Amino acid sequence: MSHPTPGRPLSQTDRTRHQRLREQGSLDRSDLDAILKAGFVCHLGVTVDSNLLVIPTVYGTDGATLYFHGSVASRSLVASPDASVCVTVTHVDGLVLARSVFEHGVNYRSAMIFGIPRLVTDPEEKWTGLRCLTEQATPGQWDYARQPSRKELAATSLLALSLDEASVKIRSGAPDDGDTSDAERGLWAGVLPLQAHWGDLEPDPALSAHIKTPPHLANRQGVSAFGS
Ligand SMILES: Cc1cc2nc3c(=O)[nH]c(=O)nc-3n(C[C@H](O)[C@H](O)[C@H](O)COP(=O)(O)OP(=O)(O)OC[C@H]3O[C@@H](n4cnc5c(N)ncnc54)[C@H](O)[C@@H]3O)c2cc1C
Repeated sequence: MSHPTPGRPLSQTDRTRHQRLREQGSLDRSDLDAILKAGFVCHLGVTVDSNLLVIPTVYGTDGATLYFHGSVASRSLVASPDASVCVTVTHVDGLVLARSVFEHGVNYRSAMIFGIPRLVTDPEEKWTGLRCLTEQATPGQWDYARQPSRKELAATSLLALSLDEASVKIRSGAPDDGDTSDAERGLWAGVLPLQAHWGDLEPDPALSAHIKTPPHLANRQGVSAFGS
């Protein structure tokens, strides 16, 4: 497993080099890290039987590797170990409402990762990777819930994708047409921010009354999500 050095700029390969809207590109590895840590759902693009599939799936990262998992029967995961994949993670931060429709846009943080994933067969790494994946979505839940049985582990594929070949784009701030002739039209322009928060817990109706809410879940209510 390769470990990208923190602080080392992101790679610029034929696939990751920004062409258009370059000013939104970042080569700062800490931006990649922050985008990946802020989320837990990615879109996995992979070719299966000559068909391109883009599958939404949960992931976890340790800063060097992106882990994703699924049933051993999952077609996208079966194809992935031999196939190049492209994974994207996107956070929408707001709508950019310009004077002209042409200049409308989105404030966002997004990452794309390219590579050929590795099927994790080492039991220790599989355990650590699955823990990482669970903890990324819900910190504290791995130790709270029952952990996977031998049978459940055997039914689960875990794939590891290196973060060596990755790109980042970030847009923030006001519309770009404030200094154009459209600014004289007297139209409102600006940003409509989008903020995500975790809501109130909804206990399972089957829950016995004596079961208390664990602090790691109670404390999550109202907390902002996706770094928004
Ligand atoms: C929520 C959202 C909405 C968007 N809506 C539009 C839209 O409506 N129209 C539009 O033109 N663009 C939009 N973009 C920007 C879009 O993702 C591309 O960056 C842009 O269109 C340039 O595409 P391209 O194929 O010319 O990229 P190129 O610059 O040719 O891409 C070269 C390489 O740059 C990297 N790269 C490109 N885009 C991204 C990205 N978003 N994140 C990380 N790495 C990237 C990849 O490694 C890619 O292989 C949107 C982005 C987001 C996140």
